Amino acid sequence: MHAETENGGSRSFECEIAVQAAGRIPALAGLDLETGNVATEGTRFRLTPHLQSTSNPSVYAAGDAANRGPALTPVASHDAEIVAANLLGSGPPSHVPDYTGVPSVAFTIPPITSVGLTEDQARAKGLAFRVNHQDIADWQVSRHLQEDTAAYKVLIENSSKRILGAHLIGPDTEHLINMFALAIRLGLTATEMDRFMSAFPTAASNIFHMLDTSEECGPATEPATTRSDRELAPATAK
Ligand SMILES: Cc1cc2nc3c(=O)[nH]c(=O)nc-3n(C[C@H](O)[C@H](O)[C@H](O)COP(=O)(O)OP(=O)(O)OC[C@H]3O[C@@H](n4cnc5c(N)ncnc54)[C@H](O)[C@@H]3O)c2cc1C
Repeated sequence: MHAETENGGSRSFECEIAVQAAGRIPALAGLDLETGNVATEGTRFRLTPHLQSTSNPSVYAAGDAANRGPALTPVASHDAEIVAANLLGSGPPSHVPDYTGVPSVAFTIPPITSVGLTEDQARAKGLAFRVNHQDIADWQVSRHLQEDTAAYKVLIENSSKRILGAHLIGPDTEHLINMFALAIRLGLTATEMDRFMSAFPTAASNIFHMLDTSEECGPATEPATTRSDRELAPATAK
């Protein structure tokens, strides 16, 4: 593999695999933003909560160029709707983006996924919460794919039972994380989310183990092999 270095030199490497993880930055250079009095913050536009430039009210930005949400495709689409609504509405801009429950996925093997607050973020907000977490490499959803890396961490607020965050690694988690994203975006509690019935044996069929809110419970055990095992359990079990 051949690479150019920052100072114009070149280097060659022997390698078996090359991973490109550099990403991109918004192409703001060349837009002559100074002349337009458009303020920037790092590599993005500095914006009000309405995605309007803080220095030039005629300018709005959406997506990666906006200094508000995470640089992800669904966020760019959401931002664009907000900007359009603010531009087309009468009076001052009134629409603001909502970045609650935006999931992110590293499409590795297995995928690494995340939505909502991390433990550190939840602590910084002064929230009291429990953390359900477990290595589930020996659970059926992992074993049938011979995947030996699988784990979850779910944060649940003590008082409200709101789901604060979910962090998953393992097979099918790129889909599973969307269930938690929906729950967090809609403000569902663990109890409410636990009511849905999932197809078995999909990755989602383990969600009820991940949501266990009983104070005295320890780590979840190997999931029941059939959904009916759980449905037949006494109502007081949870
Ligand atoms: C390698 C990589 C992988 C990614 N994977 C994911 C992923 O899996 N999931 C996910 O959600 N997000 C992913 N992203 C992020 C995602 O691509 C961006 O967040 C998203 O494309 C942002 O949309 P945007 O419209 O703001 O910008 P862009 O999609 O970059 O669109 C900007 C457009 O403006 C054009 N443009 C730039 N300057 C000018 C100019 N002066 N005049 C006219 N046109 C101009 C560009 O050519 C481009 O077409 C990834 C990004 C990278 C780099």
